[in-house]
Amino acid sequence: MASRREFFKKLVEPAKSVKEEKKTSFLRPPYVVDISLFDKECVICESKACAKACYENIIVIEAGGTPILNFSKSGCTFCQDCAKACERDVLKVTEDNEKIHALFMINKDSCMAHNGSICFSCKEPCIDNAILFKGMFEPIIDMEKCTSCGFCLSRCPTNAIEYIIRSANE
Ligand code: SF4
Ligand code: SF4
Ligand code: SF4
Repeated sequence: MASRREFFKKLVEPAKSVKEEKKTSFLRPPYVVDISLFDKECVICESKACAKACYENIIVIEAGGTPILNFSKSGCTFCQDCAKACERDVLKVTEDNEKIHALFMINKDSCMAHNGSICFSCKEPCIDNAILFKGMFEPIIDMEKCTSCGFCLSRCPTNAIEYIIRSANE
């Protein structure tokens, strides 16, 4: 028979894994060096200088005190200002970390151009030309070209642009 201690351990463990899963679902700013530093450094960082440095105002500090991206009004220009402002090297420009770890896609059910209407609202802000139309319809996002900058998201009148978060350690 399981001891009282084992019984309570089982009750506690699922709660812990849910908490960890929630943490990995944060969309982080670019220039991540090591994902574990958000919980070690950002939570004790008083300046939150990354968020203040972002002139696009897309870095917000979540309730736990760490920076996340919010594309509801704008996107990332990869200006590096957040990384340059971070004094704790949580965000730091390296050779290969100019990345936002999200995979963008168009929801065909919600997209006007997939349902017979003419709409190019997402195409115009995409300076990487990553949104490809078949003639005037059926846009898709070219994953090879998409930088996950997020500028298209707020421009879609039917909220058809979606993303899934990838691990920042990928
Ligand atoms: S990324 Fe840097 S500046 Fe931003 S909260 Fe973390 S330690 Fe502070
Ligand atoms: S790179 Fe520039 S625009 Fe992008 S999150 Fe950092 S400060 Fe904001
Ligand atoms: S997230 Fe991708 S598809 Fe959208 S504007 Fe940026 S590069 Fe273009």
